[in-house]
Amino acid sequence: MRLVFASNNAGKIREVAKILNECFEGENIEILSLKDIAFFEDIVEDGNSFEENALIKARTIARLGYLCIADDSGLEVDALDGAPGIYSARYSGGHGNDAENNLLVLKNLAGVPDEKRTARFTCAIACATPNGEEFTVRASCEGRILHAEEGSGGFGYDPLFYVEEYGKTLASVTPEEKNAISHRGKALRAFVEEYRKRGI
Ligand code: IMP
Repeated sequence: MRLVFASNNAGKIREVAKILNECFEGENIEILSLKDIAFFEDIVEDGNSFEENALIKARTIARLGYLCIADDSGLEVDALDGAPGIYSARYSGGHGNDAENNLLVLKNLAGVPDEKRTARFTCAIACATPNGEEFTVRASCEGRILHAEEGSGGFGYDPLFYVEEYGKTLASVTPEEKNAISHRGKALRAFVEEYRKRGI
């Protein structure tokens, strides 16, 4: 099976390849990135939900003749009414500036006590096939926003995101530990289950 993961985010590509290779172990699977298929255009993500944005990306690539999955994910902070949400990648302005995004979350949460700093990562995965079949799945990972960054692993908001399960941030755990409880890990496993059920 050849499957394109419609992303240019190196952190996500690394996680997704690892998880899917585990799920499809022993089967013949080739996971390609957008770079691998020489797709360098910008896909405008103007949907109103994680699902809509993931579908926009997956559909664009499926129309080129590939079986494709795309994820749209983000951080939802309760004390910020769910922000940054679908705008997580560009919260501070420019796209994908992790350091600036983290600083802005900390600034907007200044003075908010620990018990009110609850948050979750959410991930929607869309799958689209060249013959027009589509579906989405979604999963979340609950945690809390610390007062300063901790850890150097992961990507994005991971250094601020403390998870009870490990008593650490997602930037301080191993990739295996992150994938076991993360929004993306859970959503990808749900995708594999649905994919097999549908016999695509
Ligand atoms: P997307 O590429 O539009 O889905 O942007 C997702 C953004 O949400 C990323 O750029 C990160 O800022 C944030 N994000 C999503 N998943 C994670 C994660 O697993 N760890 C940390 N940040 C994440």
